[in-house]
Amino acid sequence: MSNYNKILVAIDLSEDSSLIAQRAKAVAGGSGAQLHLIHVIEPLSFAYGGDIPMDFSGIQDEIFQQASQQLQRFAESNGIDSEHRHIVLGRSEVEIHGKAEELDADLIVVGSHGRHGLALLLGSTANGVLHGAKCDVLAVRVGAGD
Ligand code: AMP
Repeated sequence: MSNYNKILVAIDLSEDSSLIAQRAKAVAGGSGAQLHLIHVIEPLSFAYGGDIPMDFSGIQDEIFQQASQQLQRFAESNGIDSEHRHIVLGRSEVEIHGKAEELDADLIVVGSHGRHGLALLLGSTANGVLHGAKCDVLAVRVGAGD
């Protein structure tokens, strides 16, 4: 099997993110694959825009700044270059696919809670990323007791 060259690791900055990065690093192993991190921020207007007549730009900027700082700390503690950190606004699945294509990544790594029942029917980010991905997807089992 040929090695991966570029791996895009999608993280929601929750405590599961370290395990996902560890797995990605293990896959990258000695192959010299580049590791990239992506964190997506869903615009508040997607959720509330039509219902609440309010300007969200200040809060949105604050969320973006906080997430950027968290992503920077996370990347540093995982030895990932600053130019390989990507933080974008949008829908997670759409932005993860878009970034993977832009970078020409050959593997996307996401966490998966292994949901069942109603939660499975409602779907998950991992499912969304898997469907429509143009490269391999590694779903890392995260979360206890699901
Ligand atoms: P979920 O199914 O939404 O709980 O998320 C499962 C996995 O999808 C997470 O462990 C991440 O790998 C990825 N993910 C979820 N939300 C985001 C996000 N906002 N940005 C990047 N990746 C995400």
